[in-house]
Amino acid sequence: MEFLANYIAQVKKEDLYRYPVAYEPLDAVHVGLEGKKYLLLASNNYLGLTHSLAVKGAAMQAIDQYGTGSGGARLTTGSHPLYTKLEQDLARFKGTEAAVVFNTGYMANIGIITAVTGPEDVIFSDELNHGSIIDGCRLAKGQRIIYRHADMKHLAEVLESTPCSGRRLIVTDGVFSMDGDIAPLDRIVSLAESYQAMVMVDDAHAMGVLGRGGRGSVDYFGLNGRVAIQMGTLSKSLAAEGGYVAGSKQLIDYIVNKARSFIFSTALSAGTVAAAQAALWELEEKPELVQKLLDNAQFMRQELIAAGLQVAGEITPILPILIGEAGLTVEMARRLKEEGLIVSAIRPPTVMPGTSRLRLTLSAAHHQAELVKAIHSIIKVSRELKII
Ligand code: PMP
Repeated sequence: MEFLANYIAQVKKEDLYRYPVAYEPLDAVHVGLEGKKYLLLASNNYLGLTHSLAVKGAAMQAIDQYGTGSGGARLTTGSHPLYTKLEQDLARFKGTEAAVVFNTGYMANIGIITAVTGPEDVIFSDELNHGSIIDGCRLAKGQRIIYRHADMKHLAEVLESTPCSGRRLIVTDGVFSMDGDIAPLDRIVSLAESYQAMVMVDDAHAMGVLGRGGRGSVDYFGLNGRVAIQMGTLSKSLAAEGGYVAGSKQLIDYIVNKARSFIFSTALSAGTVAAAQAALWELEEKPELVQKLLDNAQFMRQELIAAGLQVAGEITPILPILIGEAGLTVEMARRLKEEGLIVSAIRPPTVMPGTSRLRLTLSAAHHQAELVKAIHSIIKVSRELKII
């Protein structure tokens, strides 16, 4: 078993060692560790709904009524009544005929991609797509073509030059999780229509963020009805866990019958489903949360760029500060922690070597005064480490 120790020694040497730290969540944007309180700039809790009284109350009531574990897979035992309502509401919110919930976004991606493609088919996937899409493509039996990030000229070239006797699927993140930029979905859909390809968008980071009232990237681009497969998660803006796919009734029926990660895994507990449901209602009732989130993101992005930092992305609440070296990125995260800030040091293999970054994620629950303080700390530490 020497390979275990060798691997750990190697990743430590390359500043790529990872381990989970058990922070105690205090509220939506603060955590505690060893008696100290930190501002969290590393969570996907975009709307801050994890600590909403309505969401917590719904989860507790559901546990009270239905118990904890669901007891089985959806098709055997575990499809308790809360699922039906959540799926109907997700479909309505996304403007589709139907939706189905998976246990995680990861499982949704691997389940959908392997269900809708077979050996004769070709999948065209953006090079910066999330790991769960990559793994879905790896598990799928068809050919995989990776196109350069958001490069529509390249996508057009590979669509033209790749022979395909079956179906074509173009799959993209709506908002790229490590880069914070928005996929050119309008152009992807135009190309897909020219080549009779299906489009699948992963809106994990667009749900509750982009589009009218946070409806996602399809709505943001005004493409309603033109994207066959809209995947998303319940684990970010919706303050719970789980994934979903929204689309036509036929698609959902097919997925339920074909997606192995749906069929062969125990359903979510009632508490989790109820939390996502309540968060969706909160989002629908309070669209101002989405605006607050985007305002926070714009404020922080502008200030960091003005200070000379290289911040990728556009209007989204994902702010990657490009550093380059993994070691320097880890050191910066460590120094920021001393300043009371939790930020993620994103390194290979999550991103390409030489492109390590600090990834800040904002929430509607952040107060501007806290952000101002955080900006000062980031600028101070960046100067000390000669990043600016
Ligand atoms: N897609 C994207 C773009 C993601 O960022 C993530 C997770 N962060 C997932 C899918 C997987 O979702 P989950 O965490 O619910 O498994």
